Amino acid sequence: MDQYSLLGRIGEGAHGIVFKAKHIETGETVALKKVALRKLEDGIPNQALREIKALQEIEDNQYVVKLKDVFPHGTGFVLVFEYMLSDLSEVIRNSQRPLTEAQVKGYMMMLLKGVAFCHENSIMHRDLKPANLLISSSGHLKIADFGLARLFSNEGERLYSHQVATRWYRAPELLYGARKYDEGVDLWYDFHYLKWVA
Ligand code: ADP
Ligand code: MG
Repeated sequence: MDQYSLLGRIGEGAHGIVFKAKHIETGETVALKKVALRKLEDGIPNQALREIKALQEIEDNQYVVKLKDVFPHGTGFVLVFEYMLSDLSEVIRNSQRPLTEAQVKGYMMMLLKGVAFCHENSIMHRDLKPANLLISSSGHLKIADFGLARLFSNEGERLYSHQVATRWYRAPELLYGARKYDEGVDLWYDFHYLKWVA
């Protein structure tokens, strides 16, 4: 942790606190996500492990946020990500006028390419929503927050939890409590955004 100097808090979600920081040696700006263990006896939280595993297993893709490093800290972990200027929920909230059709198409395209890439690598994200889509200073969109992600198999025998995704964004099969579902749950969200941005 002493390799970084903290520059401020960026976000706080369900699973951790995110700080803007500078890598002292290289001067690079990064985002540090601290994932704490609630109680020592809980062991390593599944959510943190999932995120690390999902992100480490996939090669670099321009539409998925890059995990640069992971290290233990206190009773938890710190995940080091490339720094992104904003997220889509802030972009939607802060823009003076509705996004243009060209912007919506651009974001949609990058989102779908990122989702396709995850699915090609057998990863269901399961929590896609504007706050988990990061936007760089150059307007690039990258999928982030793999805290609920999991690897899927195409054998169709696996049972999954339906308690995933933020309620507003849950696909119908999850709302109905399905335990067998597939990567289609990520696509429901995609179309749901159109309501937000269009
Ligand atoms: P949580 O699991 O707590 O929801 P997220 O990974 O979604 O954690 O991060 C919470 C918020 O922090 C995001 O909605 C975003 O605003 C901000 N954030 C996360 N990662 C980055 C990053 N790499 N660069 C800039 N901001 C980030
Ligand atoms: Mg999040």
